[in-house]
Amino acid sequence: MCGIFGIFGVENAENYAFYGIYALQHRGQESVGIAVSDFENIKLVKKPGLVLSAIRKEDLEGVSGFLAIAHVRYATAGRSGDFNAQPFLKKTVLGEVAVAHNGNLTNFRSLKEELLRMGESFEYDSDTELFLSLIGKGKEVPKGITLHPEDREYLPYLFYVLKKVSGAYSVLFLLKDKLIAVRDPYGFRPLLMGRLKNAVLFASESCAFDILGAELWREVKPGELIVVDKKGIRSYLFSQSPKKAMCIFEFVYFSKPESFIFNDWVYTIRKKMGEVLALEEDVSADVVVPVPDSGVVPAIGFSQKSGIPLELGLIRNHYVGRSFIEPTQELRDVRVLMKLNPNPSVLKNKRVIVIDDSLVRGTTSKKIVSMLRKAGAKEVHMRIASPPVIGPCYYGIDTPTKEELIATKFSVEEIAKFIGADSLRYLSLEGLRSCVEDYRNFCDACFSGVYPIEVEPEVERLR
Ligand code: AMP
Repeated sequence: MCGIFGIFGVENAENYAFYGIYALQHRGQESVGIAVSDFENIKLVKKPGLVLSAIRKEDLEGVSGFLAIAHVRYATAGRSGDFNAQPFLKKTVLGEVAVAHNGNLTNFRSLKEELLRMGESFEYDSDTELFLSLIGKGKEVPKGITLHPEDREYLPYLFYVLKKVSGAYSVLFLLKDKLIAVRDPYGFRPLLMGRLKNAVLFASESCAFDILGAELWREVKPGELIVVDKKGIRSYLFSQSPKKAMCIFEFVYFSKPESFIFNDWVYTIRKKMGEVLALEEDVSADVVVPVPDSGVVPAIGFSQKSGIPLELGLIRNHYVGRSFIEPTQELRDVRVLMKLNPNPSVLKNKRVIVIDDSLVRGTTSKKIVSMLRKAGAKEVHMRIASPPVIGPCYYGIDTPTKEELIATKFSVEEIAKFIGADSLRYLSLEGLRSCVEDYRNFCDACFSGVYPIEVEPEVERLR
């Protein structure tokens, strides 16, 4: 769970990177970093906190360049905080290389051990460092690939890295004169390509292009590596996976509704989730109330399909970030109360269907139900626009351990009791799958328990 952004071909690329990564703030709020090159040197700015407050104008003065990558971090592997802020920068056989990664490597423990045995030392506590540590350890040209003369010298080093790593990775490499974008063969995480005049851009979601007035060009394909330099753009399909495994949770919660990812509009798919939820409904009510912001789009779909009017029964305070991000339960509890306020004018004596995108630990829903009741709601029916979360994610979404997932321990009726709702219903797995074009191209392990790539036991135990 992170956001990445890259740009090649514009003066003051660092400023574009700043705005681009700002538009991806929802993907990570722990730290932000920008690496920029002027074709001679790579300079790096990294700060803890939110983009707008963390990076000051002065920080970007004197780091002016023509190509840049940026990252917002939400820790999924390794310690959180400043220490592991990306991009990482390292001297390699290819000179200085910076890397920004969204995803999770499923074999990083064994790779790290292998490298430690070879005498390699590590600066960070994160799987992302492997992308740099493995450079120079071997060369590889994938079968069927003919390298462009420009790429013959250095690219085999990167293809070797990609042969060694497995798991989820949308990743941007910055060399002093090149920007390289890669998406893993399963396509777990999104990665889009855009253009702005002569500049080429990459971003985790298309919403990062809008802010810059850039145009969405196309998706980086699963198993594709794209090089951008002064000579142009070159694409290589380095691996054909037997299966795609795009993360369905990006549609459920993680991506912004106005983004285009995985060949679809998030808004369209998310709204469909609400529509299908309404088709499965058997309770009548006076109002549909979304939990802002993530419940809003499915609630629109639900309301339109069911004919029950949508009302803003919960009002969001916009100065608070995502509540899930707080490290302890107590802090998360306070955050929920800070974030949402009930609106009695639409709740009093009403039978309410309240809609949220997902229910993970159940603590958010519990607070919301009690809030709605205190504001006068007569009945509270909680509806979740995705199935019960029954498995942790090993591919880049920060879900809790299996023990913390409420649906692994309790039945729907028990959870309804725990959160204090008159009834609780989730979208069915089949219902969710019917919302995307072909569910077989998606990873829904968190809902189905079916994991598309094997995970090393040590990595599994981290969750
Ligand atoms: P809870 O059931 O209290 O653990 O939290 C569920 C709420 O957190 C949902 O309403 C989502 O909007 C949000 N959420 C779900 N998964 C995540 C995640 N991996 N990271 C951040 N927020 C999440």
